[in-house]
Amino acid sequence: MLLAFQFNAGPSSSDLYTAYQRFVIASSSLFLKVAVPTPLRRVFDYLSVVGTKAPVAGTRIRVPFGKRQVIGILLEITDSSTLPAKQLKPAIEYLDSEPLFSAELFKALLWASDYYQHPVGDTFATALPKLIRTGSPIKQPREIRYRALHPEQDLESRLARAPRQRELLETLTRRGPLSIAEIRQAGFDRALLRQLKDKGLTETSLADQSEEKPYPDAVVSASPIRPNPEQVMALTAIEPELGFRCSLLDGVTGSGKTEVYMQVMTKVLEAGKQCLLLVPEIGLTPQNLRRFEQRFNCPVVAMHSAMTDRERLLAWRATRSGCAPIVIGTRSAVFVPLANPGIIIIDEEHDASFKQQEGLRYSARDFAIKRAQLENIPVVLGSATPSLESLNNALAGKFQHLKLSQRAGLASAPKMSLIDMASDPVSEGISGALSVKIKKHLQQGNQVLLFINRRGYAPILQCDRCRWYCKCHHCNANMTVHANPPSLRCHHCEARTDIPSHCPNCKSDKISTLGAGTQKLEQFLSTEYRPFPVLRIDRDSTRGREAFAQLADKINQGEPSILLGTQMLAKGHHFPDVTLVAILDADIGLFSPDFRGQEQMIQTIVQVAGRAGRSSKVGEVVIQTRYAEHPGIASLMTQSYEHCAKALLTERKLSHMPPFSYLCLLRIESSVLQQGIRFARHCFGTALRLQQQVQQIELIGPLPAPMEKKAGRFRFQLHIKSASRPRLQRFLQQLAMKIEAGKTPSQVRWSMDVDAQDLL
Ligand code: ADP
Ligand code: ZN
Ligand code: ZN
Repeated sequence: MLLAFQFNAGPSSSDLYTAYQRFVIASSSLFLKVAVPTPLRRVFDYLSVVGTKAPVAGTRIRVPFGKRQVIGILLEITDSSTLPAKQLKPAIEYLDSEPLFSAELFKALLWASDYYQHPVGDTFATALPKLIRTGSPIKQPREIRYRALHPEQDLESRLARAPRQRELLETLTRRGPLSIAEIRQAGFDRALLRQLKDKGLTETSLADQSEEKPYPDAVVSASPIRPNPEQVMALTAIEPELGFRCSLLDGVTGSGKTEVYMQVMTKVLEAGKQCLLLVPEIGLTPQNLRRFEQRFNCPVVAMHSAMTDRERLLAWRATRSGCAPIVIGTRSAVFVPLANPGIIIIDEEHDASFKQQEGLRYSARDFAIKRAQLENIPVVLGSATPSLESLNNALAGKFQHLKLSQRAGLASAPKMSLIDMASDPVSEGISGALSVKIKKHLQQGNQVLLFINRRGYAPILQCDRCRWYCKCHHCNANMTVHANPPSLRCHHCEARTDIPSHCPNCKSDKISTLGAGTQKLEQFLSTEYRPFPVLRIDRDSTRGREAFAQLADKINQGEPSILLGTQMLAKGHHFPDVTLVAILDADIGLFSPDFRGQEQMIQTIVQVAGRAGRSSKVGEVVIQTRYAEHPGIASLMTQSYEHCAKALLTERKLSHMPPFSYLCLLRIESSVLQQGIRFARHCFGTALRLQQQVQQIELIGPLPAPMEKKAGRFRFQLHIKSASRPRLQRFLQQLAMKIEAGKTPSQVRWSMDVDAQDLL
């Protein structure tokens, strides 16, 4: 009405604008608080769009921002602004009529922004697929679909001489209404469809894909395995009807954790709700997907980094509308909207990949717990080697501690032994004793898995005369020698060079490689154990979308062979024909500068060992080390993971390290060394002054990072620790505000890493 009046009065656009602002102030309920994707830690105020109804929180909104237009998320509509209305600009457009998120997910994202001290606009941007961020509609646009019609009579005779039309009709009958794209995908063309239409055998409908194709009602498992008593206890404890509770499913490898997930999921699906399962690696997803697809009679939606933007958008829409009953994804899938959330499961919860190492440095596990609490649904953390954080929470009674102590079915625990490389000579990383075992297992028709956490050909290229060795110009690290194509590559940045023919220092041509990575071992093993094939599984051999799945298929054919791989092989795979597992060099993780080094080492050893003897065949695990007496390694031979982990917990308690304190790293990076040092000192000074006001905060720094230079940037850290999480939170928030209010030189970047996973 007001606007109509203004138009009648024929004001200029600037008059109109002023009048409009006055109207806004008068109606005093139309300030929009918008999360704009910028690195600034604040919310921006706008006036509502001229002539439209007020939008709802959680929708997208296009706003002017400096000279640009950006899409932000509307957080709140208020009746006041800290700025005078004159200084505010109106928003340009509302993109949605309904919120993108449920109220619970919306709250969880606001929590993440606060907890991780990350700008709220960028937090929302991180949680959304790119195409949603850039304005694609949240719902699948409606499209024409074709459905089969079956006349009462003479269908047979009418299609007697048209077998292709008949096939198309059968396809339409079987698969329900299809779009033209789907019809063509199934191998039929438009002409054929027209012929059917002309005969009155199809009808069209305009439909939203999701509305037309709900998933079938019968999603129940095909042939459920009978759970053993420990599984029954776990299943009873996880009861999805009971709402939020966090359970740690602490089960040795092969104990049937996945089976427990599937049986719980069955109950959730029967109640008409959705299941979200998070897994660590993209490599794991295809295998897992297949296992879940085989079990459940419903679509399984995957979410991982190898998907295209379009695929992500479709998956996001499907989870949001509720037509994806099962979602399996990696870290960022924890943000997918779910129409009917029923449970969140995190497999291999100890895995470091659940922590994002840049931007919003969130832990998908911790976010999942918060989200589940807000949604009032159960969350299950599964692992054979729980993180010390989760184990501690379970021991303290904060999580339900559910144990599966035995391997399920016919499999039994593998036999473990140590080989002391100090006394048994090693050739190309394989000791004499291990070589005998490898041959024995292969000749018995079984598979052997060799683990070495070092990809490439060799970790070092050096000059035999002057001991020069090749370092990366941009990082504090060696260049790794690669065989295919021959090159030197830095594993910490993109740097790549040719292999020099002469030492750049003394001009000698006697340069050689030191140590062995997977590529060199692959060469050696293929000749040493001919004719048995060697399958190398590392990041280089599994590039490309289907590469890992293809290698896994080959392994699962069961031919006697050697599987040689890195960390990728440690994760949750089920290779039933592997009977011997050897860790070629357990010492790599022994002297890590990181306080989590020991924890990660024992987790890796136990996980890799868990690949042995996963079916009826008896397994054997061999660990090669030069420090056979090291308590960390020796105790693993005779004691359980839990026993070793409890010993580490005691150490952490004595040294006040997480989980007995809360730790945040303030990370500072600069392309210019001096500026980095100066800024790190400035931050430390600011933190010291704040420390006077907030009690119980411990500060260490400023320190150069263990890897002082990475990708051309000098790196510094400030360690901020406290025994009280709320105090730490308060301190961090004030510190972030103070640093942001000051000047940050353009070469410098800083970020907060709350609950830092690694200190490198
Ligand atoms: P995890 O996830 O703990 O590694 P899985 O759930 O993959 O273990 O189970 C390992 C193997 O044991 C699978 O082949 C699975 O089908 C089988 N299994 C699980 N539970 C049972 C059971 N109760 N009885 C028989 N076999 C089982
Ligand atoms: Zn030299
Ligand atoms: Zn580098």
